[in-house]
Amino acid sequence: MENFETVEVKTDVLIVGGGMAACGAAVEAAYWAKKHNLQVTLVDKAAVDRSGAVAMGLSAINQYVGLKDGKNTLKDYVDYVRNDLMGITREDLVADIARHVDSSVHLFEKWGLPIWKDEAGNYVHEGRWQLMINGESYKVIVAEAAKNAIGIDNIYERVFVVGPIMDGDKIAGAVGFSVRENKFYVFKAKAVLVAMGGAVHVFKPRSSGEGLGRAWYPPWNSGSSAYFTLKAGAEMTCQEVRFIPVRFKDAYGPVGAWFLLFKSRVTNALGESYMETRRSELQNWMPYGGVKPVPANLRNWLGMLDVKEGKGPIYMRTEEALKKLSDEVTDPKERKKKMHDLESEAWEDFLDMTISQAILWASTNLVPEEKPSEIAAAEPYFIGSHSGASGAWVSGPEDLAPPEYQWGYSYMSTVSGLFCAGDASGASSHKFSSGSHAEGRIAAKSAVRYCVENPEEPHVGDAQLSALKEEILQPLDTYERNKDKTTDPEINPNYILAKSFMFRLQKIMDEYAGGVSAQFTTNQQLLEKGMELLAFLKEDSSKLAAPDLHELMRCWENVHRMWQAESHVRTVLFREETRWPGYYYRADTPSMDEENWKCFANCRWTPSTGEWEMIKRPILSIYGEIPDYELLGG
Ligand SMILES: Cc1cc2nc3c(=O)[nH]c(=O)nc-3n(C[C@H](O)[C@H](O)[C@H](O)COP(=O)(O)OP(=O)(O)OC[C@H]3O[C@@H](n4cnc5c(N)ncnc54)[C@H](O)[C@@H]3O)c2cc1C
Repeated sequence: MENFETVEVKTDVLIVGGGMAACGAAVEAAYWAKKHNLQVTLVDKAAVDRSGAVAMGLSAINQYVGLKDGKNTLKDYVDYVRNDLMGITREDLVADIARHVDSSVHLFEKWGLPIWKDEAGNYVHEGRWQLMINGESYKVIVAEAAKNAIGIDNIYERVFVVGPIMDGDKIAGAVGFSVRENKFYVFKAKAVLVAMGGAVHVFKPRSSGEGLGRAWYPPWNSGSSAYFTLKAGAEMTCQEVRFIPVRFKDAYGPVGAWFLLFKSRVTNALGESYMETRRSELQNWMPYGGVKPVPANLRNWLGMLDVKEGKGPIYMRTEEALKKLSDEVTDPKERKKKMHDLESEAWEDFLDMTISQAILWASTNLVPEEKPSEIAAAEPYFIGSHSGASGAWVSGPEDLAPPEYQWGYSYMSTVSGLFCAGDASGASSHKFSSGSHAEGRIAAKSAVRYCVENPEEPHVGDAQLSALKEEILQPLDTYERNKDKTTDPEINPNYILAKSFMFRLQKIMDEYAGGVSAQFTTNQQLLEKGMELLAFLKEDSSKLAAPDLHELMRCWENVHRMWQAESHVRTVLFREETRWPGYYYRADTPSMDEENWKCFANCRWTPSTGEWEMIKRPILSIYGEIPDYELLGG
């Protein structure tokens, strides 16, 4: 500890994270801060150019409402999101993001992102809300704008943020450490905007052994947003709403283009399409089962029923889809060219965002126009910006939010001065990369307003800071003191290394909280047993040991995951129904209970007592009940 320099940074608005929401926040905060002579600082554990979920690039922008084209309305988008989340959504937040998202997309294009255009110059849509892009450098382009806006001197890269510092009940900044140098960082700020993404590797992944680290969600987002907001005492929402994407098996390649652009079917080993053979199951989940498109979790569920009955593997019928599309062209020469173009698009879709899928296809001699490709439900993830919904409970926009959802500055959590965006803010799913950027911008503007109206400097006692420094660096000390008591550094009764700790967490979650091995199924007793084992794990977290700074980061990533896990198990236990089969199934409460559970299941950890509180919050509609839904039956 003595050889660790403490670096203190004072700022007005602190943006924690460097992903899509944080980059949006930087651009907007810089603009408003300049007008009020305020300072904005951003801190990311990685390098902003290639950090977060968009690091590798994307092949589509998933949220573009196209309000100016007049084809869609805000209500259309809100209906889509509400239905996909089985009725559980904050319509005020979804509508607010939707009315700002197009401007973020237009900014991306202005900054140089190539968005596909048709011959008439219109955007090429992958689906109703999605735009096709040449997105290999998407993150670099968005990061450049953020860096230009706040200035490189105000960006701290490769600094891992561990948790909040508080001034009583108010946020006062954040603490962390450099992952490259012996430096402990104290950021003091009047407002903090949390945008550290969601969480992966909380549950045991399908990929283990030589495939370890392969996951759909980027392995470096490890629940830091949830930990930060929980530890600050913020109320959280939808912690039970995990996301399970169905993806190409083993390399997690995207399926969106295959469904939406190539109109591919999925069939089981017997050649049956579960979307047809299992259609009657949707009646059990009405009214949401009758909505078009069928909610993502219900689509998963129909496939899972096939797998449970031993009808796997499940195949994406790539060969059938490509043939059908090329057959639309009658001239043989043109048809050959069409097939060639389709094939290139298929490979590019992977190369833009999941290169490993292209490698897996190549290494297994998979020719998509000749052979179908296996798909599977992945392990659960926490990603409030996608089809999950977990995150902090934030105040809604003044002109849209009912009083129950509005307590001050929009996108501020229940902790004064603590703002959230992207995966960090809950109950506003389907914002994706573009909506997260837009939400970051709105939240940042609100954070600047907070600083203008609350100009007093935060008070942070030295005792709080030295206690945090000691706790955060403890794993280095634990390793140093005990490393010679063993011949194998991985096995030592005096400490636990980050990887072993993670394996233990993943095993608990997998077996007790409905992971892959448990076929996504759990019940009250399993959850209670899981809680018991999580308590032992928490106790052992004080024995985490790190031989170097990199491993120190790994230790804290896994503590963050553990808190994400606990809030998840508590909330799944609290919600006594099954609302999202296909994400998780509570065998003891196997159906949906609209009367008692059409509500938000929120939770809060109280810093002063260490107690958890579970809270029901009402669903208040600004656009009415399930309007305009189309029954699949016709
Ligand atoms: C596999 C996959 C495919 C997707 N496909 C699409 C798509 O096709 N189209 C689309 O529009 N959207 C897509 N999305 C969604 C999109 O990527 C997310 O919605 C968006 O990135 C969320 O933004 P965010 O800022 O909340 O998180 P991220 O962009 O993930 O950023 C999180 C940031 O926090 C930083 N961080 C994490 N922990 C710490 C810490 N402890 N200290 C400091 N910094 C930290 C990270 O380094 C990173 O900079 C996809 C997501 C995934 C995972």
